[in-house]
Formats: sequence, C-alpha cells, structure tokens
Amino acid sequence: MSVERFICDEMLGTLAKWLRILGFDTEYAKGMEDSEILAMAEKEGRILLTRDKEMYGRALRRNMDAMFLGNAELESDLREVIKKYRPDPELFMTRCTVCNSALEEVPKESVKGKVPDGVFERQERFWHCKRCDKYYWEGSHWERIKGFIEDLD
Ligand SMILES: [Zn+2]
Repeated sequence: MSVERFICDEMLGTLAKWLRILGFDTEYAKGMEDSEILAMAEKEGRILLTRDKEMYGRALRRNMDAMFLGNAELESDLREVIKKYRPDPELFMTRCTVCNSALEEVPKESVKGKVPDGVFERQERFWHCKRCDKYYWEGSHWERIKGFIEDLD
C-alpha cells in the first residue's frame, strides 16, 4: 500500500493537513524558497505538490516526482492526489495535522474534560499528539472525506 511522502507548497496548507490525517508523511513548505523546497523534496524523496507552474517545471527538469494542482478547491485537489496515490485505510488517523508526528490512540475515559462534552458523548475513539497536546476524533468533516475516498472506486 501507499508509502508515498509529500511536500506541499505554501499554497497547499489545508491539503497538507488532510494528507497527514490520511496517513501520508507530508511536509508543509511554509516560508521556504522554491529552491529549498526542491532540495528538500529531492533529499527526502518527497513528491512535490504545487500550485506553481514554474516550480512544477523545475521539478520535472530535475526528474523529480511532482504533481501540479490547478484546482481552486481543496476537495478537488485532494481527490486528484488520492486518485493517483491511494491512501491506506490502516494509516488513517496516524499523523498529527499540525506537526506531522505520530498520533497515539488513547482510551475514551482519558479525554473526558479535554474535548468538548458533545464530542465526548458522540465519539468512541480518540487520538492524541504528544508534541502539540492536541486531541483528534472522527468529526463530520472526516466522515465526508472518507465518503469521497470510498466513491473513488
Ligand atoms: Zn502534533
């Protein structure tokens, strides 16, 4: 299954978050120069995802794996990426959307008082990022994304 690693350019921050939650190791090139982004992609074997035609051209000339995303909307971008690089459902909810590090599934009892009461009542499974001290659960947005992943087949 998929083990691709990505680097998203500065325009694709939201896409980077979604790729992380789908289990892809994804760097977000915030505040980096194009040349730094290309160097990092090359060094770490990451596929470049970009809205920048010029940078896309530079990546291709260097024989790098890259994808140009010309959509205006997040969901269209995400659809395009996961059509080509199928996510592995086993890896869903394994990476923090903020820092890209590994999430740990935690028992429901342990999150009481740490997540909104309504969420605690509705959800059964929770995940935690130690680095950011952030909790995750499968909210409504997540259900929609999962829905369209299933629709790809
Ligand atoms: Zn984190």
